[in-house]
Amino acid sequence: MSENCNVCGAPFDAPIFESAEAKSLTTMNTLINGKTTVYFCAHCQHGQTNELPDLVEFYATEYEINIDSEDDDQLYDVIDGKEIYRSEHQARVLMSKIDLSRHRKVLDYGCAKAPTLRQVCGAVPGIEPYLYDVTDKYIPFWETFPSKAQWATHSPDPKWHGQIDVVLSFYALEHIPHLAGILGDVRALLVDGGYFYFIVPDMYQNAADFVVADHVNHFSRQSLWHLLANNGFTDIDIDDQAHASAYVVSARRAPDGAAPPAPPVFEDRARQALELAELWGSIKTGITAFEAHTPADVPLVIYGAGIYGNFILSCLANPERVTHFLDQNAFLHGTEISGAPVIAPADLPHQKAAILVGLNPRNARRIIDEIPGLRAPGRDFLFLA
Ligand SMILES: [Zn+2]
Repeated sequence: MSENCNVCGAPFDAPIFESAEAKSLTTMNTLINGKTTVYFCAHCQHGQTNELPDLVEFYATEYEINIDSEDDDQLYDVIDGKEIYRSEHQARVLMSKIDLSRHRKVLDYGCAKAPTLRQVCGAVPGIEPYLYDVTDKYIPFWETFPSKAQWATHSPDPKWHGQIDVVLSFYALEHIPHLAGILGDVRALLVDGGYFYFIVPDMYQNAADFVVADHVNHFSRQSLWHLLANNGFTDIDIDDQAHASAYVVSARRAPDGAAPPAPPVFEDRARQALELAELWGSIKTGITAFEAHTPADVPLVIYGAGIYGNFILSCLANPERVTHFLDQNAFLHGTEISGAPVIAPADLPHQKAAILVGLNPRNARRIIDEIPGLRAPGRDFLFLA
């Protein structure tokens, strides 16, 4: 089946990656049927994963981020022993990028519980929050917003068109094949000069983004720029430093009929995209070799209860050998993955253990070295790269 680029429409050549397994891992750490196939656009440097038919069922049943409680947030970082959660960091970055005391009508588009906008409303007086999601299951959370919110489900309220100062989108565009449609909807909601502000993953900083089946778009700076410039946006700012493993992007609604802004010079990502394909092609070999070399009486422990940890589990010949998952996110303690409890690193009961490190290879060694006592004698470690 031929595929075209979701951003620029150019046809792809051969894929740069096809997974060996018949099943693919999702961001909810579940497996769905079908191989992951990744393409790279020579024209706009967009990475793209094939849409598997089972994604429809996946979104209908499993794709629920943190519905359980208001405080159940994802751990962003631990700095000097203090936990920082994702919405907290996102709110801080947003407030540093856009003066929300002057651009007050802020719509969180596809907001779920809208934890970031909730934080912003608490910090900046006078914000008028607008909330939109396709489902009505988040209304109980919206009813308790710190400032009175307007909301809509299924589609944005037509009365909002041309009224909104800032449209926010956190981790949505990577899931959506029909990007031009979304950009058109967002643009119609904005006042002239209004901001579209969004965050999407950066696979060049976090290799896991390359391999998850529900991320059909893997943006580069160039493909983001192409997307915005050719869909009626200008003043494009793409920041790959403000948020770990992500692009923080803002652009303003250009007047109707305005010519696209002239493109800057972009770094060439083609070689790095191929390196990611090679990494994921060879990672399983290292995991199964480590498992085979670990004596049967040594417990296997996986560090990281997220996507990398679950990927490791899916590669093991005998996954029942895993006695524990270790994770610093307190919200995960007391949960289980395939029958293995998730515990704090300090609670690891075994003196002897073989620890498979399921963390972003870029930070894995630093994170492990910073945990007091984890690198105890008699413990072997496997790092993914
Ligand atoms: Zn393209």
